[in-house]
Amino acid sequence: MATGESSAARNRQWLLARRPSGMVSEADFELAERPVPEIGPGEVLGRVRWLSFEPAMRGWMDDRESYVAPVELGEPMRAPGLAEVVASNDPAYAPGDVVFGMMSWSEYVSGGWSARTAGRGYRRVPTDVPREMLLGPLGSTGLTAYVGMLDVGRPEPGDTVVVSGAAGATGSVAAQIARIKGCRVVGIAGGAAKCRWLLEEARIDEAIDYKSSDVGRRLRETCPDGVDVYFENVGGSTLEAVLDNLALGARIALCGLISGYNDAEAQPGPRNLFQLIVRRASIQGLLLWDFLDRVPEAFADLRRWVTAGEIAYRVDVQEGFENIPCTFLRLFTGANEGKQLLRL
Ligand code: NAP
Repeated sequence: MATGESSAARNRQWLLARRPSGMVSEADFELAERPVPEIGPGEVLGRVRWLSFEPAMRGWMDDRESYVAPVELGEPMRAPGLAEVVASNDPAYAPGDVVFGMMSWSEYVSGGWSARTAGRGYRRVPTDVPREMLLGPLGSTGLTAYVGMLDVGRPEPGDTVVVSGAAGATGSVAAQIARIKGCRVVGIAGGAAKCRWLLEEARIDEAIDYKSSDVGRRLRETCPDGVDVYFENVGGSTLEAVLDNLALGARIALCGLISGYNDAEAQPGPRNLFQLIVRRASIQGLLLWDFLDRVPEAFADLRRWVTAGEIAYRVDVQEGFENIPCTFLRLFTGANEGKQLLRL
């Protein structure tokens, strides 16, 4: 095998050391050094260059039924990212190719990548798109925002649309798509700086700082005719406040419930779910996987809007392999300003 890497090279990895109880912490991970894998026939070796962080990864640390299998104890944390091919026994990949796909908190990843197709394998990244844009608004969070807002939320011009987690990677794109579609958009986010960004850069109509105001009261003030579409990223008391302010026939796109991801015990659901009956409203959970046929159109639209300045975005790029666990934790304190990435 001609890897171009020294045979003495080591593959540092962050392993899942224990299943967290409550808030995830750096102590839940453990640093390990293993040999850089040898690759067999048809296999590829990649050097991980970028990692993308998603709140859902917290759920992968728990041993419970979900839409993907949990990460096993002692295995490297699974994570989406970009890798550069450094050695290949597969004619479909050449050294220097940069690919996107589900990787891990490792310096190197290997395997038979051509076999991993059906939309979930490694895909070559376009060379004419900046990496930050590709992993940010054109990546899975932007694509999820697109299908969540347009296919599940189905906003009409003139609708009042509320987005929680509105300054984050998914929420900020969802909110701006609703603005582009002619809706009145209210974003809910934590802190004055994030709210200012939503008003000045994302150019939505209202921003509610849930950390310093009464969300229910502010929703009544900013949405006097009720909420037609709610793009939900947070859950908990925010969801309850929106349920109390729904318009007749409202649609809720249930994208995420981050306020509960670190609960040691699952909390009872919203106390006012009855409002769905009162308002004849619907709520639908969504996963990007179910909309893969929409990805080409979503990618093209998002790229056009971002390039034209119709969608503003921020990426929060941390550096260095050793900072992987603490970078992940930023998602749960709200320290991240935009899409959380790390460059290796
Ligand atoms: P993000 O919004 O860029 O970052 C997470 C943000 O969540 C933080 O910056 C923080 O913003 C907020 N947050 C953290 N803890 C919170 C709490 N206890 N209460 C309220 N807000 C809290 O991350 P993202 O990747 O775009 O994910 C956002 C949501 O979308 C998550 O719920 C995620 O699971 C979901 N998601 C779902 C799918 C899907 O396929 N269904 C795909 C991607 C993302 P503030 O500073 O504003 O509090």
